[in-house]
Amino acid sequence: MDVGRHPNIRLLAYSEVEKVEGELGDFKVTVRKKARYVDESKCTGCGACAEKCPTAISDEYNLGLANAKAIYRYFAQGIPSTYTINTNFCRNFQAGKKCGVCAKVCQAGAIDYKQQDQVLEVEAGAVILATGYELFDARRIPEYGYGRLPNVVTALEFERFLSASGPTHGHVYRPTDLALKESLPELEKSRQKAFKALEKFEKQFEKTSDEFYPLYEAGELKGEDYEKWAEQVRAFRDLDGEVQARKEKVASLESAHRLAFIQCVGSRDIRFNRYCSGFCCMHAIKEAIIAREHDPQAQVYIIGMDIRAVGKGFEEYRNRGAKESHIEYVRSRVAEITEDKDHSPVIWYEDTKERVVKSLPVDLVILSTACEPSPATRILADIIGLEVNDFGFYATDPSQPLDTSRPGIFVCGCAQSPMDIPESVAQASSAAARAAQVLSGSGTLRLAS
Ligand SMILES: Cc1cc2nc3c(=O)[nH]c(=O)nc-3n(C[C@H](O)[C@H](O)[C@H](O)COP(=O)(O)OP(=O)(O)OC[C@H]3O[C@@H](n4cnc5c(N)ncnc54)[C@H](O)[C@@H]3O)c2cc1C
Ligand code: SF4
Ligand code: SF4
Repeated sequence: MDVGRHPNIRLLAYSEVEKVEGELGDFKVTVRKKARYVDESKCTGCGACAEKCPTAISDEYNLGLANAKAIYRYFAQGIPSTYTINTNFCRNFQAGKKCGVCAKVCQAGAIDYKQQDQVLEVEAGAVILATGYELFDARRIPEYGYGRLPNVVTALEFERFLSASGPTHGHVYRPTDLALKESLPELEKSRQKAFKALEKFEKQFEKTSDEFYPLYEAGELKGEDYEKWAEQVRAFRDLDGEVQARKEKVASLESAHRLAFIQCVGSRDIRFNRYCSGFCCMHAIKEAIIAREHDPQAQVYIIGMDIRAVGKGFEEYRNRGAKESHIEYVRSRVAEITEDKDHSPVIWYEDTKERVVKSLPVDLVILSTACEPSPATRILADIIGLEVNDFGFYATDPSQPLDTSRPGIFVCGCAQSPMDIPESVAQASSAAARAAQVLSGSGTLRLAS
């Protein structure tokens, strides 16, 4: 909020850096401000357009666990709160199709289907890179089953489940249970369709299906039409039975009680990333504590080689998790995850304290996936001509952790290395101070190699 309102900060959201030319004190940064097809200066963020938009799409912010519309706001607290049209899905942008609903309902007249990208040139004395991270793709460890076993999710997906504004409004349901719930309206629609087809026969032959079917079975009614009617009766009865059974199942669904976090997924693993991702032990503990707050019956395990609680009060937080939230910390590196008949994941691991191979059946597995450099980090490193380290993060000197290999270009947060929010924020302030120091001529510069 403060950033959006600050008179000395110009926010260029939904924009990408294309070029950085010049040198310390005199950079020219070329930025592509992508067309939103909504005029930022007019849009009030009322949401009427999305409400009426007929095109449902997968909600990227909720990691595909919910639906959004082809005109959307990435997330509720985003700054600015302007809506954006996703041209990959909006009907107005598909050949041979038309829509225009959002333009009709927008009272502010903000929709502009002809808007174009703008290429801006920004002059700057120094540049600070804060391009962050992306999460390791857990599919790269096939033995953990992510993408194959439905009740294995990532910690980020689990965060969305825990969130009151998330797809399950803070309830932790298993994806298989959610899918069952979501399949009910479609099944009911098919049942309704089958019922309507029966009504047609009943009208034509002036009999109810219940009167007709015993006569048909007794061989008293013969002919092609009766065959078709009988087939329809059977189809309807099957569907009706299925709807009732599914309704009962859905009514008895409970939230997931047995939860297991698997640590270091893609981190501290010579096959992928040798480094520790720094924040995942703590976010697993946080999520486990919140899950217990939502469901005091939940049984929560955190399985990892060790818990890296490095920070003020972190060890105490870890211990509080064990004492008050009954988190069970299991020392192991998980070998494999399988599933039983009802899609409950089964975790196979060696308990390294007892030196025994064990299996642990749970309702939901949560993978704490590694922090990797974002794709933008690699792209910008090439565009600007910056060195990256062995892991792909911007290279910095240990004695000057904010300075990149190019004078006047600084870095902060996970673009430099994995770190949590307080550390990223502190580093952002340090980077701003470092830039001011260098620009004012009072700081020493690392020499470009
Ligand atoms: C599941 C999970 C839970 C977590 N929970 C916590 C927690 O409770 N507490 C905590 O302290 N930490 C938590 N973290 C860690 C936290 O996410 C990071 O510490 C933090 O996001 C790092 O901030 P950042 O600004 O460096 O990077 P990011 O948050 O990744 O932000 C980088 C931003 O830069 C933008 N960007 C990238 N490239 C470009 C470009 N070329 N042009 C314009 N914009 C660009 C990206 O879109 C992104 O918005 C959690 C992490 C995970 C995975
Ligand atoms: S584009 Fe118009 S209808 Fe949509 S949020 Fe903005 S002001 Fe509201
Ligand atoms: S913070 Fe914990 S889970 Fe994450 S990589 Fe380091 S040790 Fe593994």
